[in-house]
Amino acid sequence: MTLAICIRCGGEKIGAFTACARCGFVPETPEDKARSLGLSDHNLTAEELRAVAERIEAGDPPSFDEASVRQLAEGIAQLPPMKTPLGCLLAVWLPVAVMLILLVAVIVVFAYVWSNQP
Ligand SMILES: [Zn+2]
Repeated sequence: MTLAICIRCGGEKIGAFTACARCGFVPETPEDKARSLGLSDHNLTAEELRAVAERIEAGDPPSFDEASVRQLAEGIAQLPPMKTPLGCLLAVWLPVAVMLILLVAVIVVFAYVWSNQP
C-alpha cells in the first residue's frame, strides 16, 4: 500500500498513480507520474507527506528537482504501456486450453468406442 499526495490539491490517496478522490486528478503524463511518485511514501515519510499536503493546500506547492523528475519520467515513459499482466493472460487462455484438451479427450473417447464396436 502506497500513501501518496495529490500533486494538484494535496489530498491524501492510496497509490501514486491513482485518481485523487478529492479533485479527480489522475497523473497521466510521465512527468506527473514522476512528481506523484516523489510525493508518495516511497520517497517521504508520512509526516513529510502531511507537511507537503498542507503546503499544497495553502497554495504553496513544493518545488520539484526537475532534473530528477525528468530522469524518473524517462524511466516511466520507457515502461511498456498497458502490458497485459500474466494473470489476465492466463484467465483468457486457460479456458481455451482446457476446451482444446476436452475436445481432444472427446475425440479419443469416440475413437476408442468406434474401434471397439463389434
Ligand atoms: Zn487532488
